[in-house]
Amino acid sequence: MFCHRRMSAQDRRKRIHKRHVLIIAACILLTVAVIGGTYCITTILLQRTKSAHTAHIASSPTNPKSTSNLFTASTGDPTEEGAAFEVRKINLTGYKARFPNLYAREKVGQWKNVGNKTVYLTFDDGPSALTPKLLDVLKKYHVKATFFLTNQPGQKNDIHYIRDIYEAGSTCAVHSACHNYKKIYASVDAFLDDFNEMHQIIQQQTDGHCAPFYRFPGGSNNPRMSASIHKAIIQEMMRRGFFFYDWDVDSKDAMGAASGRAIYDNVIRGMQRGGGVVLMHNAGTKKATLSEVGNIIQYGIKNGYTFKAMDGTLDPSMYSFSNQTFIPLLKNNPNFKLSDKHEARFASLLGLSPASSFTSRVSSASSDRKNN
Ligand SMILES: [Zn+2]
Repeated sequence: MFCHRRMSAQDRRKRIHKRHVLIIAACILLTVAVIGGTYCITTILLQRTKSAHTAHIASSPTNPKSTSNLFTASTGDPTEEGAAFEVRKINLTGYKARFPNLYAREKVGQWKNVGNKTVYLTFDDGPSALTPKLLDVLKKYHVKATFFLTNQPGQKNDIHYIRDIYEAGSTCAVHSACHNYKKIYASVDAFLDDFNEMHQIIQQQTDGHCAPFYRFPGGSNNPRMSASIHKAIIQEMMRRGFFFYDWDVDSKDAMGAASGRAIYDNVIRGMQRGGGVVLMHNAGTKKATLSEVGNIIQYGIKNGYTFKAMDGTLDPSMYSFSNQTFIPLLKNNPNFKLSDKHEARFASLLGLSPASSFTSRVSSASSDRKNN
């Protein structure tokens, strides 16, 4: 009996000891689990905060990198093409499903007003044999410009000069591959075929830095384009992240006999009345234009103007001849936002308020329009 009681006491002690060991083991496991869990959660939260901060910096208008020219050699590698538009590529049909890589490289976001005395020199219809000489002039005065490029049959567009334009820090954007109104304005499909061809050439020559904006051959108010096709093209291009610029200063060098003096006077007058986007040409026949670019820049520098290459942040609504079509399409478009000033101006067209402040600026610019 005594022996049995002693054994029972031993058993009890063993049992208690075993229980203590189990409790300690459970405590250790629980502690490890709590520490591990806390570490994992902290790491995830830190990563999220970091990426949100990076995204904020990338999109912040005050970040100097985001306000520099996004589409020239001065910045690093492009982001993955069309990454910002992935979500909009689902369940597409018809022309929307074509060219799945033809999307702007990234969203530009909020557009801004042009700065006081800021001028954007733009050159259409190049590159040509005159491109290296034009780049020399721009380099001499440390000026960057914007080139709306073509690859026209029989026009000797020397497309390898596109790389020189890009490496010089100017902006390369699509004008048209063939520049044939009848062909490209026949349908949205035809426009996309032509645009994609030129976009691919520029992407190859600029290591993927083709600008997310373009210029319609003949301007956006081109009578060779039906209203319905015009609207559909703008809408489809905006869906893909591309928008367009016309101009508000016409050098009128598209006219064959335009003299250098007339070109100079037209541009200077336009700058003096506050124009921001200057239309000129860089086709192989435009020697008179080439001869005046240096004089125009000299005048600008002497008179306090700044010359810039377009970087996609300039509000295009000031340089569109077809705002009655363009502006309403911006409503609820997630890719673009007018500058505050112009949103107020176009409020009625955007359906934001019954009062219309849409007035004369566009019509006066429109009356200034000539074919490019
Ligand atoms: Zn043109």
